[in-house]
Amino acid sequence: MTLVMKFGGTSVGSAQAMRDTAELIENTKDNWGQVVVIASGMGSKPVKVTDLLLGGAQAALDGDQQKYLDIAEEMRLVHFEAIDGLLDPEGERQAILAENLRFIEHYVALCDAVRVLGELSPRALDAISGMGEQMSVRILAAYLRQIGYKAEAIDATELITTDDNFQSANPLMDETRKLSTARLQPLLEANVIPVVTGFIAATENGVTTTLGRGGSDYSAAIIGQTLDADEVWIWTDVDGVMTADPRLVPDAQSIPVLTYREVSELAYYGAKVLHPKTMRPCIENDIPLRIKNTFNPGHPGTVIVANGQGK
Ligand code: ASP
Ligand code: MG
Repeated sequence: MTLVMKFGGTSVGSAQAMRDTAELIENTKDNWGQVVVIASGMGSKPVKVTDLLLGGAQAALDGDQQKYLDIAEEMRLVHFEAIDGLLDPEGERQAILAENLRFIEHYVALCDAVRVLGELSPRALDAISGMGEQMSVRILAAYLRQIGYKAEAIDATELITTDDNFQSANPLMDETRKLSTARLQPLLEANVIPVVTGFIAATENGVTTTLGRGGSDYSAAIIGQTLDADEVWIWTDVDGVMTADPRLVPDAQSIPVLTYREVSELAYYGAKVLHPKTMRPCIENDIPLRIKNTFNPGHPGTVIVANGQGK
């Protein structure tokens, strides 16, 4: 059985969060066999790495070098703290610190270029904003290896081909299916857990694109479709889709089963459930999409299906 699971920024937001996430991965792997992990960049509000990256890019455009250097330093601290908290010094710690540092140096170089040219194109924004995912998956995969799993960090630029509609690119599914299955199937057969960047993809020419803010949900659904996964899970911090906003209505209940159509209607009325395009790949291959709570993993959450029968 193949399960594709997406973890958002909060689930990889610190050493402890990554440890908890790794435990969820362990438990699901025992039951499912083949598990593909999709991860966002570190953090949730107020410190979300994607926002930091974009803020720095804007500062570069404004000519504010000090500001993007400060942001680079903040990024370094966030990632290094997680790496130091997770990885043994006699294991992969140094290697992963060095890899993360290379991304931060590349980030500064891109910001320097933006500042000098005085131009920030959508293409440059995509190259810059996707780095958070590239850094987080390397940390999480190394931690999974440390606790005894075979795991490999993969940039989705190798798996998902899109058009060049930067900042909200659209997948080209034929090409994506070829790339994704060729790269991931052998890993799954060898019992390796692929830990894939959410959010980013690449054009046919290999230029980095992004699927839009919050796009890691969509990445999971795209990869799920290419692998014909049995389910796609989106981990979040509530028990699935609720009857009301649990912050406002304390006895809000989780809804066990919703149809794709009902979720579209909820989104139409403004409920923020998923990245809006997430359901498409699942609808096409009739793959149940489950929303689950990392703080209450035993709860089945909400499953979104084609018709109301549930699973
Ligand atoms: N990191 C990206 C964002 O903040 C994608 C995601 O988290 O889904 O929009
Ligand atoms: Mg989200």
